[in-house]
Amino acid sequence: MSTTLSARHNTPQHAPQPTPTRTSAHDRTNALAFRDTPVRKFWFDDATAARTLDEERRHRRERLAGAFRLFARYGFDQGLAGHITARDPEWTDHFWVNPLGKHFARIRVSDLLLVNSHGEIVIGEGPLNQAAFAIHAAIHEAHPDIVAAAHTHSLYGKAWSTLGRTLDPLTQDSCAFYQDHALFDDFQGVVLDTSEGARIAETLKHYKAVILKNHGILTAGPSVEAAAWWYIALDNACHTQLLAEAAGTPHPIPADVAALTHTQIGRPGGAQYAFESLFEGLVAAEPELLD
Ligand SMILES: [Zn+2]
Repeated sequence: MSTTLSARHNTPQHAPQPTPTRTSAHDRTNALAFRDTPVRKFWFDDATAARTLDEERRHRRERLAGAFRLFARYGFDQGLAGHITARDPEWTDHFWVNPLGKHFARIRVSDLLLVNSHGEIVIGEGPLNQAAFAIHAAIHEAHPDIVAAAHTHSLYGKAWSTLGRTLDPLTQDSCAFYQDHALFDDFQGVVLDTSEGARIAETLKHYKAVILKNHGILTAGPSVEAAAWWYIALDNACHTQLLAEAAGTPHPIPADVAALTHTQIGRPGGAQYAFESLFEGLVAAEPELLD
């Protein structure tokens, strides 16, 4: 020990020093790359990726598997309940869905089932959640513009659903759902037939979400990313209003401001980037989800 210290202290001042490289700590902290021409860019570019059918199918399946794992991280899993579906881009009356009994946190791309309009599994092992088929088949059939729909029994959405009300525009975030969600007030037990699914689909109309009274919440959108992010955001909005009303009397945002805010934060593009920011970290931490 003493020899090492002695040797270090005796190093001559003129000893050769290492030549700094481009990856040195000095460079990483100090090298700045100024644009030749500064730009104004306050929002994302539209995500208009051109994909082949195979690429689009893979994209949807990867985001779908990722959405389940993100839902697990948010605690949206509850026993066997919950399903997210993605319409197949080629066989458009078929959708991809999770197998019943596989925990959200462990779902991989290869676990997903492809289900036809009769509720038959054409790819994958199953079993299929009958409620998943009854609800999602009706939504996909009634709304060709909807690519994905998400429904679980998450705590705050479920608690809010018992009040039999739509949400108020209490915060900037909750304005994403201002005049853009509906209440389905017809709980008849577990949804096992497509006629009830059809009534939920009818309630959904052109909205992005439905509160299923005494049941939970459901979101739908033009991409897996949008449906999944809006689910996360809707459960958060339910949580927020529950907290606010438990603490006092919240002051809603005026209608005209809420409507303006909805146009600013309620669009699918923003939801897509919000989802991707979560998905990127998820894939880095759990790459096996892509198997
Ligand atoms: Zn349910």
